[in-house]
Amino acid sequence: MHQDIELIHDEIAQIDGLVIPAHILAHTPSATSVFVSSIHDHSYYIDPMTFLLQSRKRTHSGSSAQMRASVRKMCEGYNADLIGRLANLKPGQSFQARDFTEMDGFCEGVIAFQQEMVETNYGDSKAAKYLKRYGRTEVTQPRFLVPPYFCAAGRGDDWYDLSLNCANECIDLCDELPVPIVSLPASSLNPETSNEIASDYAEFERVVIWLDNFNQIGVPPEDISAASNLIRTFSQNGTATEVLYGGYLFMLMHFDELEAISHGILYTQHKASDSSPGGGGVPDRYYIPKFHEFRSLSQTDLIIHQHPELMCDCEICSELLQDDPDNFILFRDEPELLKRHFLAVRKNEAETIVNSELEPLLRELRSTYNKYHESIRVLRNPDAVKSRGPMEGLQYLENWRRGLSA
Ligand SMILES: [Zn+2]
Repeated sequence: MHQDIELIHDEIAQIDGLVIPAHILAHTPSATSVFVSSIHDHSYYIDPMTFLLQSRKRTHSGSSAQMRASVRKMCEGYNADLIGRLANLKPGQSFQARDFTEMDGFCEGVIAFQQEMVETNYGDSKAAKYLKRYGRTEVTQPRFLVPPYFCAAGRGDDWYDLSLNCANECIDLCDELPVPIVSLPASSLNPETSNEIASDYAEFERVVIWLDNFNQIGVPPEDISAASNLIRTFSQNGTATEVLYGGYLFMLMHFDELEAISHGILYTQHKASDSSPGGGGVPDRYYIPKFHEFRSLSQTDLIIHQHPELMCDCEICSELLQDDPDNFILFRDEPELLKRHFLAVRKNEAETIVNSELEPLLRELRSTYNKYHESIRVLRNPDAVKSRGPMEGLQYLENWRRGLSA
């Protein structure tokens, strides 16, 4: 996130708010506190990232016994007991759900961290240089507080029950209703479990949903229907929903009353619960508006030479490409522009959706599939270094349409 701070400031009109991962805030508290406060009129919430504690692989780096520095600082902020317990875990050993039930003050610590961290670090001496950079601003509090949460395999497993218990325990710890994060895989859902989940969380006005590893270009139509049904069920129960990690597919669930999605810039449109924090650099990619997905720069180069009408007409692309696909190569020297282009397109997608109906948008997915799938599918794939096999086609667009028409 820190490499994107300047970009976010410049492009602030394209986004509505921020999600701040707790371990980032714990690791660089002054810079992050000033940053979130410097973004006027844009609210944020802190993701408590407690699911990291479910596996030693996520709390410790590599095979070493070293705890990740950011995770250690986050745990220090949560609960004095936690560090000792983590240190006592042997390689191959992980926390069980019951370890958290026994821990006094775990929920209190996670909530207090969100209430106090930004304010405490906003005014300290390290913050001064950032305050100067942005001009002094008022410290802002998170939009809502998030109870500790864990990734469940499905409704009713130990981690699901623990997350629900934490959510309920946090009600009394917060002035306003906290907003739980509900995390499970879409494949564990059916209409019955969705009803039960919505009723488990009926006390809450809003929940954030994280469907584990819900990769929009790989997810089957039945999982898409299940996700859409879960969101609709919450909404019918009077609970508003947002999702963590989403792309265009989730945006189409606006028609199920989904209110917001979050994602990184050029990455994390989906996330697997077993991924480790700070997984290294992500290769530069270009978001092809018509495909509602990213492609590598080499693939995009081939695609727009074959189909020049796919060149984006946002301000950034118009200026750089000058209507000539040969200019696409210039993006290689300007990775910043890839991000600015993506944020502009994403904003445009959001505006189109709120001003449209679902049906014409689904018809458009179908016509894009019909027009381009065969052609893209047989284009050689410059990223497949050895095989030189063809690129993947656009089957996912058909899956989206099927899943959302169901
Ligand atoms: Zn563009």
